[in-house]
Amino acid sequence: MRPVHVEGVYAYVGELPPGCRYCVRGVKLVVFVTGLCDDRCFYCPVSRIKLGRDVVFADEEPARSLSDILEEAFRIGAEGASITGGDPLIALRRSVAVVRLLKLHGGPGFHVHLYTTGRYATSEALRALEDAGLDEIRFHVRGPEGLRAVEKAVRVRRDMRVGVEVPVAPDSVEELKRLLVELDRIGVDFVNLNELEVSPDNYESIVMRGYRVRGFVVEGSYEAALELVAWASSRLRRLSVHFCPARFKDRVQTRARLLRKAVRTRMCFEAVRPDGSVATMVVRGGAGLLDECCGLDLGSAVAVSPLCPEARGRAVELQPTASRLSDLARAAAVG
Ligand code: SF4
Repeated sequence: MRPVHVEGVYAYVGELPPGCRYCVRGVKLVVFVTGLCDDRCFYCPVSRIKLGRDVVFADEEPARSLSDILEEAFRIGAEGASITGGDPLIALRRSVAVVRLLKLHGGPGFHVHLYTTGRYATSEALRALEDAGLDEIRFHVRGPEGLRAVEKAVRVRRDMRVGVEVPVAPDSVEELKRLLVELDRIGVDFVNLNELEVSPDNYESIVMRGYRVRGFVVEGSYEAALELVAWASSRLRRLSVHFCPARFKDRVQTRARLLRKAVRTRMCFEAVRPDGSVATMVVRGGAGLLDECCGLDLGSAVAVSPLCPEARGRAVELQPTASRLSDLARAAAVG
């Protein structure tokens, strides 16, 4: 039996995938390289604003060029990136260009992993990504076709790590055990089990399948994933199996990334909140007041400056996106 490691709220058998080590520290840039995807997963968490559209985002920022992606990497002080979609292999040339760019500027230690359905994972595509410097590829396996793509990746890769990432539906434990056995046999490096998350975009199709929703997750998914990790510790000899709960992603990874970005991009008139948002003050009454407003107490919705008591305004909390200044201008306009 192999030991089950529990660190914070995540659990794994074997080793934690290298890409995840960066994620947990919030130092990974997320490049949404295209919203195009030819699968139709009932649990798809991708926002309907993005899904099916050939749009590119670097974290929350729309990216119109490769340099927009690079800028966001600098803004958060990224030490790695995850390339996601949609299916990034539908936009193969773009994905290869992004991997190459990030490795060129970030250096060989800059860790890049990419998600794909495997539907378009030809040997040529896999080689092109690895040649560009891709460190890790993660397949979203749905059925035998996906499994064949994983097998191919294990066969053609040189050093690139090959993993699989699947959401855990509470009634899929036996099916997932069979998948894990097969992946162990094929020689896959790791499997990430995800808690089945619920968003406004997939709520209806999840409920239609009879799953019960608790907060923003499917009831029973957490327990089913833990059961699989425990089972893997006694039944699988080589495959690493890692469970990443939704609450961990939300409370730890996303917050760590936002905090990092807020601290690095904070302007002199902004305060960083513990949740990674930035608070600022909208003061009405002319630009002349601005100089006097330093030292504002941003703890309440209506803030008062000890230096300039007559300067009253509204405290506004924003995500630390590059576009927040225009949000601020809008907030000032509505007073
Ligand atoms: S493969 Fe991914 S992006 Fe495509 S439909 Fe499924 S969950 Fe959504």
